[in-house]
Amino acid sequence: MKVNQFVIIGLGRFGSSLGTELMRLGNEVLGVDRDEEKVQDLSHILTHAVVADATEEEVLRSIGARNFDCGIVAIGDDVQASILATILLKDLGVKKVVAKAVSDLHGRVLERIGVDRIIYPERDMGIRVAHQLVSPNLLDYIELSQQYTIAELAVPQCLSGKSLDDVNPRGRFGCSIVAINKPKGIIIAPVAKDVLTIDDVMVVIGTNVQIEQFQDSIR
Ligand code: ADP
Repeated sequence: MKVNQFVIIGLGRFGSSLGTELMRLGNEVLGVDRDEEKVQDLSHILTHAVVADATEEEVLRSIGARNFDCGIVAIGDDVQASILATILLKDLGVKKVVAKAVSDLHGRVLERIGVDRIIYPERDMGIRVAHQLVSPNLLDYIELSQQYTIAELAVPQCLSGKSLDDVNPRGRFGCSIVAINKPKGIIIAPVAKDVLTIDDVMVVIGTNVQIEQFQDSIR
């Protein structure tokens, strides 16, 4: 995978977790925070970490912010600082700017500035966890559109030992199993005779209604 260069403004809980994971995935990360302690904590994990106030244009210029593939503004509580840092990154010409929003209004302002992606970590995680709590087999999901979803469902005891032909979600509900993740490896585009085993993970694509019906049938 291509090594990307990221600059993260704000090394709080979200920024530090994001930076640590981007490093683990083999990227280069410059972290910026005005709090020296935060910078110290991450200095041995990130490629570079600097103490600076990201609302000062000269600061962002001097760290060469515009040369990064992506800038992430991970400041939450100080909304004014978040907005200023975001505008500066955009004006400096950073190719892609991602920002964290802590409220709808904050998000709306970021949208007006032209941020490429706005993340609402608490709100989105709340929604995700709610889905997982009401659907015990649901491990994760991606909403493709308002109507269509890809869901990862754990294979429950009642499906263990059954083939896709037996389970037949496409015939019964209209959704398709497009992959089965087994401990030994993933089967892409499985065929009718492939057999499910407890704790395999099915990757299912379909409408929200089709997937819900399939989930209800395997509770
Ligand atoms: P989280 O909820 O992810 O912990 P916070 O808003 O609490 O987010 O933390 C954001 C981080 O951003 C803090 O470490 C704070 O020191 C840093 N920060 C806030 N304003 C600036 C600024 N102007 N320049 C650089 N860092 C900043």
